[in-house]
Amino acid sequence: MITPRHIFLQHLAQTSDSPLALEIVKAEGSTMTDVNGKTYIDLISGIGVSNIGHRHPAVVEAVKKQVDEYMHLMVYGEYVQSPQVMLARRLADVFPASIDCTYFVNSGAEAIEGAMKLAKRHTGRTELVSFRNAYHGSTHGALSLMGDEFFKQAFRPLLPDIRHLNYNDTAALKEITERTAAVIIEPVQGEAGAVVPNEGFLKALRKRCNATDTLLIFDEIQTGFGRTGTFFACEHDNVVPDIIVVAKGMGGGMPIGAFAAPRNIMASLMENPVLGHITTFGGHPVNCAAALACLDVLLTEQLITGVAEREQLIRTQLTHPAISAIRGRGLLLAVLLPDAAFAREVIKRCVEKGVVTDWFLFCDNALRIAPPLNIRMYELEQACAVIQNAISEVAGN
Ligand code: PLP
Repeated sequence: MITPRHIFLQHLAQTSDSPLALEIVKAEGSTMTDVNGKTYIDLISGIGVSNIGHRHPAVVEAVKKQVDEYMHLMVYGEYVQSPQVMLARRLADVFPASIDCTYFVNSGAEAIEGAMKLAKRHTGRTELVSFRNAYHGSTHGALSLMGDEFFKQAFRPLLPDIRHLNYNDTAALKEITERTAAVIIEPVQGEAGAVVPNEGFLKALRKRCNATDTLLIFDEIQTGFGRTGTFFACEHDNVVPDIIVVAKGMGGGMPIGAFAAPRNIMASLMENPVLGHITTFGGHPVNCAAALACLDVLLTEQLITGVAEREQLIRTQLTHPAISAIRGRGLLLAVLLPDAAFAREVIKRCVEKGVVTDWFLFCDNALRIAPPLNIRMYELEQACAVIQNAISEVAGN
């Protein structure tokens, strides 16, 4: 008999030889149920997406309402579409000061591409600087920024004039010069394994960018919308970027991304050439309606204030000697285990016991813990007990 799993492996393009291959039929809050009725606690939120949980009723309602009014009408930026303009207005209130103009796209990588183009166009410079172990997406431009050779080498030639510095290396910031159009950085590095900036590093970076008239771009795609315990991770360091890039958690489960900047910077995309960035589906009204509802939920349900106690619970519950550290901030945490094989085995056993966790692209000896921000405390306790048990089993004690 041909099962959906067969088709998944046969006809759905795979880029991994070991996909999780769970067949989920329903997801709600922080749990997912598979085709056999088995329930899983989701500790990874579809990789940083379901910050307000799966199928939040406010998002579901907003999507249904918008579908009843209109779906796609026209390519980006031509018609006045109320979900888009209302979202742009609301984002101006939550973005760091002075960032008041948003360009909507469909994904994180696409938002990064837009931000790279905007920086080059606005400054008239070509060089871009990013960091080792940075992940900004998988399209050609975003891949060029990636700070890891293994995943890049097969796809060269990539974009020229990109330099990589070491994250948290303040001395290296002198490599940023008057040639540099922009520096792009994750205010907490996600795929590096939840690496937090050292005290003062982002401030020193801001200072160097000011001195060289270089634009500072914060990639808040994984860290944004409450993930690290503040609305945006850059708030921890009190540093304001020139351009902010968002996606993932923004849409409450629907696909949307954006790059945003002060209006005078964004205006560079209007001339020489006109239509400096074009998208058909960017800012899709249904996705904007979902994002608006998600924003409301984050603020009215005060989900971000609950992040600290959840982080605390994880840090106090996971205390096995095989854990060398728990790195990260808020609910973007990496539990560091002895090696990749150990981590893989723990992940496998957790999934068997109904707890979904994962590794990081550039840190395969760590366990990813990034649940919905409103995961219930008892669910989190239950999940931590399962992880703790799995670690004990794999460690043999
Ligand atoms: N930037 C960061 C920090 C990310 O974590 C990701 C995705 O994991 C991206 C960019 C790319 O986003 P997308 O997968 O939506 O293209």
